[in-house]
Amino acid sequence: MTKLNDYDKAVETYEPVLGLETHIELDTNTKMFCGCSTAFGAEPNTQTCPVCLALPGALPVANRAAIEATIKIGLALNCHIAEWTRFARKNYFYPDMPKNFQTSQYEEPLCENGYVDVVVDGKEYRVEIERVHLEEDTGKTLHVGGATGRIHGATESLVDYNRAGIPLVEIVTKPVPGTGALAPEVAKAYTAELRDIVRSLGVSDVRMEQGSLRCDVNLSLNLPGEEWGTRTETKNVNSLRSVERAVRYEVRRQSALLDAGERIFQETRHFQETTGETRAGRSKEEATDYRYFPEPDLAVMEPSREWVEELRATLPELPRKRRERLQAEWSLGDKEMQSVVNADAVDLIQATVDAGTTPSGAVKWWLGELSRRANESGEELAALAITPKQVAELQGMVDDGRLNDKLARQVIDGVLAGEGDPADVAAKRGLEVVSDTGALEAAVEEAIAANPAVADKIRGGTHAAAGVLIGAVMKATKGQADAGTVRQIILDKLS
Ligand SMILES: [Zn+2]
Repeated sequence: MTKLNDYDKAVETYEPVLGLETHIELDTNTKMFCGCSTAFGAEPNTQTCPVCLALPGALPVANRAAIEATIKIGLALNCHIAEWTRFARKNYFYPDMPKNFQTSQYEEPLCENGYVDVVVDGKEYRVEIERVHLEEDTGKTLHVGGATGRIHGATESLVDYNRAGIPLVEIVTKPVPGTGALAPEVAKAYTAELRDIVRSLGVSDVRMEQGSLRCDVNLSLNLPGEEWGTRTETKNVNSLRSVERAVRYEVRRQSALLDAGERIFQETRHFQETTGETRAGRSKEEATDYRYFPEPDLAVMEPSREWVEELRATLPELPRKRRERLQAEWSLGDKEMQSVVNADAVDLIQATVDAGTTPSGAVKWWLGELSRRANESGEELAALAITPKQVAELQGMVDDGRLNDKLARQVIDGVLAGEGDPADVAAKRGLEVVSDTGALEAAVEEAIAANPAVADKIRGGTHAAAGVLIGAVMKATKGQADAGTVRQIILDKLS
């Protein structure tokens, strides 16, 4: 049983130092060093050639679109773009890597020394970027014949090289000290900002759940005033929420070990999505010697300053600017906008507004009822089974008086359960507001007959007493009447 400290206690004693390494798959049409297609989901090993299968004598040629995309990422992250840069071979053996080395970059990355600013709890944190470099992805191994899909118990292992050679950009931060108790939130905010920046550039679909953005989380703890501690690296954390959880878990785990006088091992750990734990993987106590050396088959790159400036001129509106613009368009206060950002709801609300509803209507549902449900089920907001278009339709029905908020929440139940669009759900479940005045008048008559004393009070001018009758009508119509309309009918009848 892993001993864990209480999180708040742990950060009272120790200072966390974060580090984040992110891999982003670029969505170029062709691979990094050959003309093979990068389309997803093709039959295994149909998108390969002598270069990406590493047949003897095959020669790679670098993909210009991938280099441009990486320079754009570097510029958007405020990096210096190298005047002289080259690829290097990173040597290690892995069955899904046909060359037995990965073409990567070592001492001369394409982009260096940038930063990303994120705001957490009203405070700005600068996350410094050490490097942004370009490399290639590996293939995929599939272990079959066993129960778990892992190599243990499998009868055979199959390799698919379609992914081998797809361009990958690696973005490495410098160590991030000074976040204190907010380390998990800063890690999450940085990852979200990086994702949004890259998405705005249109160079990757950056979908964490599909692996086109993969995050490794480094964390160490130290006592105030002492040297930084030994760090662990938690691999392939696949959602924003998991980034936050992985940091939190490592703080709790490492602090318990340190309290007990034990040492932290420098190791690779794996995040367990189901339990929120990290588990020990490969130990890094003996640093792997990758025997990096410059790639002799590829020319060095010398991006001209004119080219870099041309690319800079193509940069779109970046997320921070866009958020400032939307905040003004949506008339939100700083705090409210921060809640929208924290809930990862900017794109969802924008899409809902685009689908025809007001900003306040869109914000109300995404930050209220839908956030509550996402929290309950432990899902990301965007993963809920309701689309911005459906939310716009729902709010439209509220605006038209066909639904009140209470009924709308029941309609959400139906939409999330896969029963169709809001109008279908409302019709099938019989949830629309009773707008038939005849039926409402009859219900009001009944309420008056059942409460003669209250009716007399209203006749006498005490309009506040109408609440009792409204309540009775609501009860009789199972909440499906519009309270404003009912009140009007009551007052018309009794004055
Ligand atoms: Zn190829």
